[in-house]
Amino acid sequence: MTSLTIESVRTVLVDLPLRRPHRFKSTSIEHQSFLIARIRTADGIEGIGEAAVPGGPWWGGESVETMKVIIDTYLAPELIGQDASRVDYLMHRLERVAARNSFAKAAVEMALFDACGQALGVPVHQLLGGLYRESIPVTWALGAEDADIVIAEAEEKLATGQHASFKLKMGAIEPSLDANRVVSVAKALGERASVRVDLNAAWDESTSARWLPALEGGGVDLVEQPVPGWNVEAMRRLAAALAIPIMADESLDGLPGAFTLCRAEAADIFSLKVHKLGGLSATRKAAAVAEAAGLPCHGGSSIESSIGTAAAAHAYAAIAGVTFGCELFGPLLLAEDLVTEPVRYADGALRVPHGVGLGVRLDESKLARFARD
Ligand SMILES: [Mg+2]
Repeated sequence: MTSLTIESVRTVLVDLPLRRPHRFKSTSIEHQSFLIARIRTADGIEGIGEAAVPGGPWWGGESVETMKVIIDTYLAPELIGQDASRVDYLMHRLERVAARNSFAKAAVEMALFDACGQALGVPVHQLLGGLYRESIPVTWALGAEDADIVIAEAEEKLATGQHASFKLKMGAIEPSLDANRVVSVAKALGERASVRVDLNAAWDESTSARWLPALEGGGVDLVEQPVPGWNVEAMRRLAAALAIPIMADESLDGLPGAFTLCRAEAADIFSLKVHKLGGLSATRKAAAVAEAAGLPCHGGSSIESSIGTAAAAHAYAAIAGVTFGCELFGPLLLAEDLVTEPVRYADGALRVPHGVGLGVRLDESKLARFARD
């Protein structure tokens, strides 16, 4: 028995209130739900991990409820009795018993890295190649609300000196109205801020070909995933037609997807996400594929609490190619958090935690208060 022999894997579901509702193309949320994974080793180290999806299973099929079943029923038995430091080996074991379910696997892997970091007395970023940067600029996410609501929120952020770039969710309303809404926001903010949009795969190719040039002409700086993830050919044609970059998110659903996008020249930027890619190691591997193709990366988010945000920060801070900042705004949108000391932001950037492991510790009273029965 080594000190990192896994004795138990526990999961709990938690619902945290938001500071304001957040509207996506197909749903609006006032709470964000989390799966918390707790992996305990023989000598009493506990690693924690977290997974969240943006408001429900609409994004990628997984939900916190399905993750709990997958981890409790299929993944945990593969981990018990194993050495928590053999992270890649354990992830391969999990791949053999459960295909896909990348969000659930990422929560487990996060807890393994947290335990290893604690055992070695180092922050997780030192296990991922070390710090390339100390902080990561954060793009603020604006919901798919009416232009006046969005402009007011952006003005408030600009006035306080936070966030010089904004990402607007699109796809909740008819395309012409949506495009006009976004152009009026971009015009109102002018040169003072970068305006980016995320369609979340809401449009088909012809709708994109009709309206994306209008967004480009209206001052939008970047378009994320206008068409469904599978439609790499449409991504390629749209990327070739536009001067502004196209960022792949739903299309970048794993390493084969990363390779396909690069081979097809179907994206200008990769939106990395720890959960959709299946963990911190897989995120580094996807970034390596981007590097091989000469593409920069952006640090994406599934609206994590301080736990998942810290984990993603360790990964993104260790990857040289994350030159388009990040959208790790989860803790700023949440009205409550789950840790004793939430991650810190300064001057519109997320500070990478320096404590051992993930650098954040569970607040047991908060967890008990917001856990589901
Ligand atoms: Mg996205």
